[in-house]
Amino acid sequence: QEDEGVYRSSRAAISLPAHPHQSFAAFLFSGPVGHPSNSSKPLIVDSSSGSFISCREFRERVEAVAGGLWSLAGVAQGDVVLVLLANTVHFPVIFHAALSIGAVVTTVNPANTAGEIDRQLRDSGAKFAVTSPELAAKLGDPTRLSVIVLVDGETSCHGSRFLPFRKLLEFKSGTAPENLVRIRLSDPAALLYSSGTTGPSKGVILSHGNLIASVTILSEQEKPSVSIALLPLFHVAGLVVSACLVIRKASTLIVLKKFDLVAMLEAIQRFKITTLPLVPPIVVALMKNPASAKYDLSSVTAARCGAAPLKKEIQEAFLTKFPHIQDFFQGFGMTETTGMGAFGEGPPGSSGKLSANHEAKVVDLTTGKPLPPNFRGELLLRGPCIMQGYLNNPAATLHTIDKDGWLHTGDIVFFDSNGCLFVVDRLKELIKYKGYQVAPAELEAVLLTHPAIVDAGVIPYPDEDAGEIPMAYIVRAAGESLSKSDAMKFVAEQVAPHKRIHRIEFLDAIPKLPSGKILRKDLIALAASDARSK
Ligand code: AMP
Repeated sequence: QEDEGVYRSSRAAISLPAHPHQSFAAFLFSGPVGHPSNSSKPLIVDSSSGSFISCREFRERVEAVAGGLWSLAGVAQGDVVLVLLANTVHFPVIFHAALSIGAVVTTVNPANTAGEIDRQLRDSGAKFAVTSPELAAKLGDPTRLSVIVLVDGETSCHGSRFLPFRKLLEFKSGTAPENLVRIRLSDPAALLYSSGTTGPSKGVILSHGNLIASVTILSEQEKPSVSIALLPLFHVAGLVVSACLVIRKASTLIVLKKFDLVAMLEAIQRFKITTLPLVPPIVVALMKNPASAKYDLSSVTAARCGAAPLKKEIQEAFLTKFPHIQDFFQGFGMTETTGMGAFGEGPPGSSGKLSANHEAKVVDLTTGKPLPPNFRGELLLRGPCIMQGYLNNPAATLHTIDKDGWLHTGDIVFFDSNGCLFVVDRLKELIKYKGYQVAPAELEAVLLTHPAIVDAGVIPYPDEDAGEIPMAYIVRAAGESLSKSDAMKFVAEQVAPHKRIHRIEFLDAIPKLPSGKILRKDLIALAASDARSK
């Protein structure tokens, strides 16, 4: 820590590309993927069939699909393309193809309901979508979109708006994407949704420069590997680490359609996976599930864990159970920081050291004054991976990034005397269910549409398997006898499965500030004291 209470990364600063017109795809391809000696090496492998896309094929496919999106679908620079897909080998191809013609990709959790997807379509202004036949109905009325590209199968959806992905793959363009558009590092590339510190989900604008910086910083730290896309590719962790870093390093990525423990164990054994990207619930499942002992997992020598807190005791027990995992660390990152923050070795329970090229402050929650090591406060981050802002939401952007460029994370942390970060609590409203974001404000809005509910407050409730589950305190209208199970069912019908409410208690009033802001900390304390007295 130096003057003004600013922590500067102890890692050597990495020089970032400053080329004014370099797109993300062009940058990735300027790395080892383009090297002729590894051109037929498997880059992205489908875990169920074992079929793969080699490094050379990947480049060719990105170029064909980029040309097809431009010429057949009519996607232009700056257009937003919504990608509604489960993990598939085509996902990275589509992402990089769209980016290479200057389009902006907005990703969506395929488990979201049609209502949730409708909100994202309207908010992002997407006029193009890429989806699969089984998910296409979730887009609602197809006439609201100019073109819908269908991946894997073409039979179930008819009409001129639907374009088979096969046609894009077969497209022969005379012009390379970089000759179609000029892209600046500050141009938007990805629009990922996150609730940030408060309120409903918002579009986080990540630029080409943000993505390039994030992958450059990560690739200094990581060796080439055989890795597995367990984390969803719609989330920053899956997208940047799996779909970008792997390409930059010319590593091999095994793609699992949906997380399933046994399918993951089979894939580890079959493809001799060396590096596992994990979230705490998968760490717990690997330790607890007897199936883990039935597979040869000895190829795994490295594992990374992030997205939610992993307790020191669990980390230690995990490493004792799998002693061949010598290289294990936690990382701290956010959608708003392009997955950057802290990573690397540190004492158990720590999230490692500040990412290269980044600065941090830990500020007192009341005074906002910077704190020295070993004192807890809110983490502020500044550096080349900080988002450009929230889409069409200057108020939320100003609330999150202050005038000096510091991003207020809403996480309560401390740095120890060696500069290792410990995440200890959360100031913001967020709930993390199995590493997935759940915004309390969204669930409260759903609950308030029920005629028998006059007020509601949603909080995280600790859970061994999921980390946290959403819990609601509800105030019923006078004379109403709505049951807990009916209230849960009402919400479950309208939200993605990870957002379902698992616990409900009734109250006479929700504690609030005079401004109307819910005192969530009071509700969290109430839930904890009720749990203790049971
Ligand atoms: P997301 O934008 O979905 O990646 O969520 C970011 C949030 O996840 C952070 O602000 C933290 O609250 C939490 N988080 C991410 N990594 C960690 C970690 N290593 N330990 C504790 N919480 C984490």
